[in-house]
Amino acid sequence: MHFKKFNLHPHVAAGVTAAGYVTPTPIQDQAIPPVMAGRDVMGLAQTGTGKTAAFALPILHRLEQGERGVVRALIIAPTRELAEQINEAITDLGRQTRLKSMTVYGGVNINPQFEKLRRGVEIVVACPGRLLDHISQGTIDLSRLEILVLDEADQMFDMGFLPDIKRILAKLPRQRQTLLFSATMPTAIRGLAREILSDPVTVQVGHSAPPVTVSHALYPVEQHIKTPLLLELLHHTDTDSVLIFTRTKHRAKRLGEQLEKAGYKAASLQGNLSQNRRQAALDGFRDGTFQILVATDIAARGIDVSLISHVVNYDIPDTPEAYIHRIGRTGRAAKTGDAFTLVTSEDTTMVKAIERTLNAPLERRTVPGFDYAVPAPRKDVEFARPPREPQVRKPGGDKKKPASVAGKPRQGGPAAPPTATPARSVTNHSRRAR
Ligand code: AMP
Repeated sequence: MHFKKFNLHPHVAAGVTAAGYVTPTPIQDQAIPPVMAGRDVMGLAQTGTGKTAAFALPILHRLEQGERGVVRALIIAPTRELAEQINEAITDLGRQTRLKSMTVYGGVNINPQFEKLRRGVEIVVACPGRLLDHISQGTIDLSRLEILVLDEADQMFDMGFLPDIKRILAKLPRQRQTLLFSATMPTAIRGLAREILSDPVTVQVGHSAPPVTVSHALYPVEQHIKTPLLLELLHHTDTDSVLIFTRTKHRAKRLGEQLEKAGYKAASLQGNLSQNRRQAALDGFRDGTFQILVATDIAARGIDVSLISHVVNYDIPDTPEAYIHRIGRTGRAAKTGDAFTLVTSEDTTMVKAIERTLNAPLERRTVPGFDYAVPAPRKDVEFARPPREPQVRKPGGDKKKPASVAGKPRQGGPAAPPTATPARSVTNHSRRAR
């Protein structure tokens, strides 16, 4: 089917053509008619399904008629990156409408936001914290709001934004259309939906199903050789843009540095970066300056890089939903992609849960020629919690006599006490030496 059937305003239809969209995606098919009819909608859809256009097109269609220079549509998103992407999509699709859209989020100077709001916009794409700042300072007028969209509601809940959202909702006109999009439906979001949606139409796509264009593979490996395996995997694979997920910010940073050392154009994205550096990493990834981006789930949320060819889970995600969400970054809108997951024996339960959710076994692969037999370094033993220092109690002896002087290990002292096992003395020794 074609977009024509929606009877979008010609200025909006022109945006669809300019974006190169020919066939609506399933979420667009289901959501556009009820949103255009003014109904509240609960949309269960993950990133990569075309959900942004599913709400952006009807919003542009509606706002094309009516008052200009006042905020009539508000879209709330969990991260700055997602807010930027939504704003870009609206700007692109709505170019011919001349409707004005802007982003509102923290971590950047508030003055240009004041200025843009003062000059007048019809659409605001905001993150909750900074939006509340504007509301409390009276620098945004939401009294004429017609449509509210909460995007990635589950993520906003995970990030602790629910109280902020409720404070914002209390300041909005009651008479409005509300759209709520979420990849998953935890109880809190179900409750929120009941509270804020009136007689909603529920649309659902791809729930618990990643894009069909993605091929998945597991690479069983021991923890200590994950990085060499990853390097070998990258070496043997023809990749365009690779998004790598790690469990922690620290690991994202370190892996980014290791990849750079290995000669890759890589950047890492973690919550600790300043807004400028985040943006530089993202822009660099989008324009191909960086071929690899290493990120944590939170930092990568909402990243839309249509050309991502590979998603690599350096660490397996914590839930099957997070797995689907991560690999939704590749294989978007009819492009194909690969998702590789490095798994250790500790990940067995999560692998089973993911396979259950996908309703299919995941292929296990090995990298030919890679030496899987490299023993774990001694370091791992050293980092293990050391046993307690053996207590040497000589009757009447000086218990406080130091084992080393001025931080130096004792040289040529008496042999280790007979109670200490060889393993203990090795561990104690290495601890002292550090
Ligand atoms: P989203 O789920 O909104 O993040 O969209 C994912 C990607 O699909 C974006 O890069 C969109 O530009 C693209 N897209 C959205 N709708 C369509 C469509 N009907 N045909 C082709 N690409 C689309």
